[in-house]
Amino acid sequence: MIVREGKSVFKGVAIGKIFVYKKAEKAVTKEIITDVDAELARFQEAKDKAMEQLKSLYEKALRDVGEEEAMIFDVHQMLLDDLDYNESITNIIKEEKMNAEYAVFMTCEQFMGMFLSMDDEYMRGRAADIEDISKRVISILNGTQVSPEAMPEPVIIVAEDLAPSETVQFDKSKILAIVIQKGSANSHTAILARTMNIPSLVTTDIEVDTKYNGRMAVVDGFAGLFYINPDDETMAKMEEKKKRADEQRALLQEMRGKETVTKSGKHIHLYSNIGGVQDVDAVLENDSEGIGLFRSEFLYLGRDDYPTEEEQFEAYKTVLSRMQGKKVIIRTLDIGADKQADYFNIPKEENPALGFRAIRICLTREDVFRTQLRALLRASAFGNLGIMFPMIISVKEIVRIKEIVDEVKLELDREDIAYGNFELGIMIETPAAAVISDLLAPHVDFFSIGTNDLSQYTLAIDRQNQSLDNFFDPHHEAILRLIQMTIENAHKSGAWCGICGELGADMELTARFIQMGIDELSVSPGYTLELRKRIREC
Ligand code: PEP
Ligand code: MG
Repeated sequence: MIVREGKSVFKGVAIGKIFVYKKAEKAVTKEIITDVDAELARFQEAKDKAMEQLKSLYEKALRDVGEEEAMIFDVHQMLLDDLDYNESITNIIKEEKMNAEYAVFMTCEQFMGMFLSMDDEYMRGRAADIEDISKRVISILNGTQVSPEAMPEPVIIVAEDLAPSETVQFDKSKILAIVIQKGSANSHTAILARTMNIPSLVTTDIEVDTKYNGRMAVVDGFAGLFYINPDDETMAKMEEKKKRADEQRALLQEMRGKETVTKSGKHIHLYSNIGGVQDVDAVLENDSEGIGLFRSEFLYLGRDDYPTEEEQFEAYKTVLSRMQGKKVIIRTLDIGADKQADYFNIPKEENPALGFRAIRICLTREDVFRTQLRALLRASAFGNLGIMFPMIISVKEIVRIKEIVDEVKLELDREDIAYGNFELGIMIETPAAAVISDLLAPHVDFFSIGTNDLSQYTLAIDRQNQSLDNFFDPHHEAILRLIQMTIENAHKSGAWCGICGELGADMELTARFIQMGIDELSVSPGYTLELRKRIREC
């Protein structure tokens, strides 16, 4: 038996045979051509075929995993049709009389280099997309494209790495699990696997060798372990674990429509975290009771300019209307640190996580803040809104925020524009805010504890740095004491208190949070039913 460790991106157990997925890559040869027109036609034909494939991949992803994940194939189509990209290829064919494969390869290298040298993280990420589309065209040109249909069924896929385009091509019903040698927990492929509910491991310490083809294996997505040729004892243990996991999943459906209430009768508001309008489907499918965190900064990312008041109003209004009177807490812009948008022109910082971010930007760039507040207030007429402010460290900040909100209200009154009632709250995600939560609470309706940042600032451990994993203890007593203190101080002032950081979904802490008096937990939509079950057992 061989046992290997990986980072689990989706919990579950899969038992089955291995299929080693290797890209059928052939080195690109450089050839001098004589018939330029024929070569241009060859390129055009391959490009058309690639376009068709991308279109059907988009449709397939839309059906299987949703609009957000499908978007990548829309981006690929745009890149493949990019004027500069196409001009570079045709120029190499025409001017240098090179074969189409080589022209695509050279253009790919040049564009990747260009993207990789950019400061913007989003743009750097596009280098992988350029590589993906170029490889697609080259494999069509040289006839090495592999069909995933060649795969026997159902299997555990073992691969060095998988591009999103490859992952979505697989017939979902044929995949038991995915084990990847490279990748990261936040790579597109990991996100796709999570959305498809497939037990998956990334950064797995495994040799990607076809000698493993057809061997029996087990992926334990709970423990992050991969067993090849498991012995009888391991197999029996894993079968039992799988059975329990399957039963658990089936049982969870029974939680739909049930009240989120503890055994002693305390109702906990069970809400969802979302990043955009498209996530509301998952919120409703999982029977969530509201939205506890709408990360509005996603409306500002991946674009060249600020979203207008109208654009924002439409997005907020859509979410509020679709939630039909259920609570929707929208967090104002939390840009900065790892979430950068070039057009904000934030100067390079030594320590961006301790830098110019979130409310600090809003209170400095009031024009940006006021536009968002106008959109939020206008949307408040369409549902049950809560507005929440990130990265607060002082009473002074809340006082100023409330002055600005009042000014925006007056402005709307003057313009005869309607707005409704809404709650105002703050995120408790800095140790400073937790420690002075008694002073902050009288100024707000609610607190929402952002344990992701609260943990990184309390423990002085960068949340982006995976190499510090061994030092990171999410259950550190310091974090739990700050949470306890925050809840108590909220209640003393009549405010309610929730958790919207990842720790809110940590079922080992649910009972403790309830004992502390937590009023609300906001988690990824996929965790809702499981957490409801856990709360009902408490
Ligand atoms: C948090 O910090 O816990 C939080 C919910 O906000 P984000 O993860 O967006 O920083
Ligand atoms: Mg945060």
